[in-house]
Order: sequence, then structure tokens, then C-alpha cells
Amino acid sequence: MKITSVESFVVLKRNVFVRVETAEGIVGWGECSPIAPRPVATLVDWLAPIVIGQDAFDVGPIWQALFTGGFKLGHGGIVAHAISGIDIALWDIKGQALGVPIHCLLGGCHRHEVELIASLWRRDRPIEEEVERVQKAVDLGYKSVKLHLDKRWGHDAEPDRTIALMTAVRSAVGDGIDLLADMNNAYTLRTAIRVGRAFQELGIRHFEEPLPPYDLPGYRALQAALDIPVATGEQDCSRWQFEQLAAEGQVGILMPDVIKTYGITETMRIADVAQRHNIPVVCHNAYPTINTVAHLHFWAAAKMCFRPQEYVVDPDPLRDEFPIFENLPVPSGGKLAVPNRPGLGIAPDEASLRRLSVEG
Ligand SMILES: [Mg+2]
Repeated sequence: MKITSVESFVVLKRNVFVRVETAEGIVGWGECSPIAPRPVATLVDWLAPIVIGQDAFDVGPIWQALFTGGFKLGHGGIVAHAISGIDIALWDIKGQALGVPIHCLLGGCHRHEVELIASLWRRDRPIEEEVERVQKAVDLGYKSVKLHLDKRWGHDAEPDRTIALMTAVRSAVGDGIDLLADMNNAYTLRTAIRVGRAFQELGIRHFEEPLPPYDLPGYRALQAALDIPVATGEQDCSRWQFEQLAAEGQVGILMPDVIKTYGITETMRIADVAQRHNIPVVCHNAYPTINTVAHLHFWAAAKMCFRPQEYVVDPDPLRDEFPIFENLPVPSGGKLAVPNRPGLGIAPDEASLRRLSVEG
């Protein structure tokens, strides 16, 4: 199973995919977090010589070589994003070669379908429009809906409007729907406690990233002041970083993302950290492509993923406009089934992918 090539693609100037091929002709696909698409793709190309010539079954040793090979560029960040895409592609190859889905290789299924959180990405909408959007998701069968609120890194910009908005949404959908709030690092500690207490009264199920990611004492104090779980972790990448979040931040929910957290290999280790601290995992999951499918295998195999998981319902070009992936799982009744085909269970139409990446 000698690896013969590693290629990166920036598709629609937005998504980054990795293609790994073996001498036997098996092709695996991975995806990287595309916060900086070109630099991440360049890093994949830079890391490729570490991978080419290795045995594709040696996912662990290759992961270690990539991790140490890229470490001087930083712990986490775009190096981790680049390694994620390569690692996912290697798991895809291994599953295809053995004729089993990736979740089998990770220990098997705790669950065969996953309940979803309908994630509404756009913010700054008028309150009536937000209420309508939530109602639409509920009408599609979702029982959990996440809103992105206030200003990203806004330093206490509009807590009163945020509380008014969630009050309006709660009164429109009633108590039977789980509402989640993602603040994207909007507050200082005192404001986060005030908004969190108001959310508690409204029965909000998950209070995400109210503080900057590095404020671990703040997270610890905030979680101690609230009954609702405070969620964070989408900016962290390794088991050591999640260990710090769990031990020092003492948050209520950990949020790794397999296209940021050094791939499936390290995300399983992060799941072990979560289980050791008895903290549920709700993944950050921003794309309905390989990102979601790799997560489905992880959600199936990781015990601590027992809560509903994020799924973006706002328009996505590679799902809605240019559907280049065959067999992309489609939600039904607010749930996704775990794929049972070998490897990831999806692959792009390569000609279409190459065409869409030309202008990347
Ligand atoms: Mg978030």
C-alpha cells in the first residue's frame, strides 16, 4: 500500500481537499479547514514528501511524522488544518482497502444515526427574520437549532439585543425545541455571566464561546456561575490543548473539529480526554462535505458524542449548487445516518472537482 502521490485542491476558492493515491490505485480523500485556503493547500504540498513512499496502513506512524515535522511552525493552527486533510484521506484508503467503513476501524458504532443541530450561520439579521429562520428549521424536522449571535470578538457589543432576540425565538418555538447560542468570543466575563443567566431562564441548551478562547480562568468562573453548559474548543487542535480546556477551563462541552484537530487520529484521542473528564463532545462542523462525513464516523465511534451534533442548514455551494460528491448523506427528520460503505463512503467526481479548482 505504498503512497505514490499527495495532492491539494482549493475548490471554489473556499474548500480545501486532499487526494492521496497508492501504488494499488486506491484513492483516499480528505478535507482541511479552509480559513486560509491557499496557505493550507501549500502546507499540504510542503508536508507531502513526509507521506509519499510510506505504507498507507501506517496511519499512526505517518501522523506522528507529520506532527513532529510541522511542529516548529506552531502547535495547532494551519499546520493542524493541513495534517487533518492528509490523515482523513489515509483513513479513507485504509477503510477502502479492508472493505469496511472508517467507524469500524475506530472501534465500531455506538450509534447508527445522529441527531442534528440545525446551525444557522448568518448573524445580524432582524429579530423577526431570525425567528422565521428558526421556525423554518423546526418545520424541516430539527429539534435543536443553533443561532450565531451578537458581534464576533465584539467586546460586549449588544447583549440586550441578544437577550431580546433569544426571548423572541423561545416564545415563537415554545419549550419543546432545544435552542443553542454561539457567541464567537463576544464578551468579557461579567457580560457573559449576565447573558448566560438570562439564557438559563430561557432554557438555552448550550452557550458557545462567550469568551475569548485563551481565557481559561474566565471559562472556569463562567461555568461555575451557570447551570447551562458552556461550550468551547473550535480553536484548539490537539489532545494537550483539550486537556487544558477540560482541566483548567472546566467547560461543560468540548468542540473539536476533525478538519482542524489533526484529523481523525487525534480527534479520537481528544474523545478520550473528554471521556476521562466526563465531558460531552459536540463537534464544530461547518461544511456538509467530507467534514460532515468524517464526523459521522467519529460520532458513531466516540462514546461522548451522545448529544445532537452541528449541521449547517444555510446554503452551501458544494451541497446545493455544485453537488460534486456522490453519496453525500442527506438529513432526514433532523437526523443523519452513519455511512456503511468502505472508507469514508463518499468521493467527489474528480473531473468536476478539478474543474471547480482551476480558479482557486
Ligand atoms: Mg462556534
